[in-house]
Amino acid sequence: MPRDNFNKPVVEELGRRVAFACSNPDCRNQTVGPKSGADGFVTTGEAAHITAAAPGGPRYDPTLTSSERSAFKNGIWLCRNCAALIDRDVEGYPVDKLVQWKQTAEARALLGINKPPTIDDAASLPERVNILSARDALSRVRTTMTAIARSLEQLDPRFRVTIAHDGSVPSFSIEPVDGPVNVSMNLRDNAKTRQSMQRFFEYGQRVTLDGKDITFHGTPLLDGLNGEARHVSISNPLNCHAVVKLSVASRKKNELEFLDQSSATLSSGSKGFSCDAQLFGGCLALSVTSDGQRLHIKATPTFERWMGRGIKVLPYFEQLRKLRDAARLGSQVDIVVEVEGQRLAAGRGKLPMTSFGYGLLDFVEEVRVILHQSPVDILMPKKLDITADDIDRVHQLAGLRHVSAGSTMTATVEPQTEHEVESLRKSIAVGRPTAMRLTQLLDVHAFGGLLSEKKIAVEISHVVMTARRKNFRVGLSVPVKFRATRESKVSYVLL
Ligand SMILES: [Zn+2]
Repeated sequence: MPRDNFNKPVVEELGRRVAFACSNPDCRNQTVGPKSGADGFVTTGEAAHITAAAPGGPRYDPTLTSSERSAFKNGIWLCRNCAALIDRDVEGYPVDKLVQWKQTAEARALLGINKPPTIDDAASLPERVNILSARDALSRVRTTMTAIARSLEQLDPRFRVTIAHDGSVPSFSIEPVDGPVNVSMNLRDNAKTRQSMQRFFEYGQRVTLDGKDITFHGTPLLDGLNGEARHVSISNPLNCHAVVKLSVASRKKNELEFLDQSSATLSSGSKGFSCDAQLFGGCLALSVTSDGQRLHIKATPTFERWMGRGIKVLPYFEQLRKLRDAARLGSQVDIVVEVEGQRLAAGRGKLPMTSFGYGLLDFVEEVRVILHQSPVDILMPKKLDITADDIDRVHQLAGLRHVSAGSTMTATVEPQTEHEVESLRKSIAVGRPTAMRLTQLLDVHAFGGLLSEKKIAVEISHVVMTARRKNFRVGLSVPVKFRATRESKVSYVLL
């Protein structure tokens, strides 16, 4: 039976797609190099069959046709040693393992053989950090990334490649150097891709798709990306820089109060433009879309910047609160979009109630009221666990602040010592304003128990106490009525 051998173009493609490195991840030997002397080269690699070229061979698959057996898909580039190894140990090197080697080797070749070292890698090498200053280590990372970018550009010089590092995942930005380049792309047809692409063409909005939903054709640079990228974003090349300004109208006079402004990238399409701005130091994502007639606004608070910060000193809390109040009271919000100092669009309208994290802001605001008079602060936790019970208690506690002259409340008092019995009896008999301290209801569980470690007491000064029953005894509960006076003041004490 004839062997279904690879032809020369297939052999070359197999080698080139992995930069002529052995695809065995434990080997990765270079298989091409210069011959001694001034010219010529030697190869120590070969295009090996994943399933055998002839019956009886390793991993032979009888269901394949002759041309499938000699196709690129059935080959893998290996050094001679590894090629011999996989054919002698068929069970140790099954088909799916070899296919995985091939994919990984191609991805590695795309990254310029070496994965760019991450910032974490540099930090986890203490000896290196000791020798190099942190700045040197960072500049090395940058140099490596630049080298990888340059080698990718060599695949297709029509593009400029830049690599950025976001956490541990490198992101590649690929832009045409001068003028448009024709590249075709295939999209998986589903509701998400269709909707995203529609927004892209109509408003120029940047599209981010799952890497599995998109493949490119027409440039070797993007060939390697197919199936490898986790996410692919496409943005309009006709972007320009814009400034977005946000103000709110005051309730009474309808005067504008400026809140913040931020630079943004503006992109346009067949129907209008869109731009996304980060306001309030990143605490508010503001997305503005214009269809030529109206501005559509989406304001989404992002609370990440607050995590781990003291609740009394949360950045941009006041601005967010003003925006929340505007939405709640139906006051107007004013947006201006400027390009190169010129007003491109402006709009004024009401912010929909639904687009805002009101619940959390309300809660945080009340916690701030409670903490305001306390010398300590608590940190906003990384995970926001707030129960309805927390909200009720904090609300009740913060609500006490608004005690006004003449307002009354009834509470059950249970004196614990003879001394307390005596002072209670005296206060009620004299009818003179006295201070009271509530501690019982104030075991507040806010933010997953953070406040529960410290009991909060409320002290109200200058209240007048009256009681119907006057048989005070240690351990006996008696209902007592408290009436606030003009001098009454509320303070919160963390115990
Ligand atoms: Zn090898």
